[in-house]
Amino acid sequence: MRAALNALAVVAPDWLSNLVGNDWFDRYSKPVEESRLPKGTEARNVMAETIGQDGMRILEAIYDNPNTQLWLREIPAIKNLRITWTHQYWINNGQLNLRSHKDLPPAGLRSNSPYDTEARYGNKRHTTWMGYKVHLTETCDKNQVHLITNVQTTEAHLADVDQTNSIHQSLADKELLPSEHLVDAGYVDGNLLVESQQKHDLELIGPVRDNVSWQSKNPDAYDLSRFKINWKNQQAICPQGVKSTKKWTLHKDKWDNTVITIKFPRKACRECQFRHLCTRSKTEPREITLRPKDEHLAIVKRRKQQETKEWLKQYNKRAGVEGTISQGVRAFGLRSARYVGLDKVHLQHILTATAMNLVRLFAWFEGVPLAKTRVSSFAKLAPD
Ligand code: SF4
Repeated sequence: MRAALNALAVVAPDWLSNLVGNDWFDRYSKPVEESRLPKGTEARNVMAETIGQDGMRILEAIYDNPNTQLWLREIPAIKNLRITWTHQYWINNGQLNLRSHKDLPPAGLRSNSPYDTEARYGNKRHTTWMGYKVHLTETCDKNQVHLITNVQTTEAHLADVDQTNSIHQSLADKELLPSEHLVDAGYVDGNLLVESQQKHDLELIGPVRDNVSWQSKNPDAYDLSRFKINWKNQQAICPQGVKSTKKWTLHKDKWDNTVITIKFPRKACRECQFRHLCTRSKTEPREITLRPKDEHLAIVKRRKQQETKEWLKQYNKRAGVEGTISQGVRAFGLRSARYVGLDKVHLQHILTATAMNLVRLFAWFEGVPLAKTRVSSFAKLAPD
């Protein structure tokens, strides 16, 4: 609202002065800050509705009044006000209503800032921010200079796991694909383990998520690993020797992964004396869900691998990129976007990575050793 008013105040001051009431100056002259907002949800909702009505007054004056000059519709801040009001409000019987959280557009479509319309809200553990996300890839060979080989910038809401393929393609285009790519759990999934190998002859090294079913937490219960899978006959056999019912079919789960759902015979499950170890459903038979064969086997293999000391030792090298991100944030201002829009922010990220590579090369030629990960005095006392 303030962005729209400030834009109109510059290009159409007389038109705006005739439209607004004196109370608008109290509401919109100063930046919106938490400390200036009324206390309590109810009072804030009342304020949001007042702002909504003020915004509608501007939009109606520009879009519905045939006497208003059409060029006012071309002002970017007005276009954005119109989009934002569509996202945040709805009209019922002529009455403007603030949308509830569940009625808002998805995070990827929602307009969040009048100053950068491509910026999106991102969330990682306890941190929420608005803007973009950068994915850095670097070399980590022993006794070699560690250089950043790929920089990918995305809108902040996009998942890491959806970037793995495009990072690999970008590295392939530059002929910089490694034979092993160490990544954190967010970049790994069954299909990516398989595709990386098949498409790029690359081993994706990162942990897959643990099995989170209740059965996997009880050593006596029947989790997926207790079922025999006959891929050729498209049949599964449960720990009590009962065969699954119909042939399985492929479908998509809610995360768009291809999965296979397999059911067991209702009668056998109902009469089974081990049912309490198998399903918590009162009436339904046991159902298991698998990934397609190659993905399933890759996940099972990785779950075993990631328990071993050898694998963990190999994977530990990934931690080095945390130092790179820290260097980028602390010494090169990587966390603050200096420009507006995804393309320009990406350019900033590339320039930052280039500067970091130059600093690293100078240090390498000067023989400066890599800094060791800092360990607290107390942690140094820990037994091996
Ligand atoms: S409940 Fe059904 S699937 Fe589970 S062990 Fe018994 S017969 Fe097998």
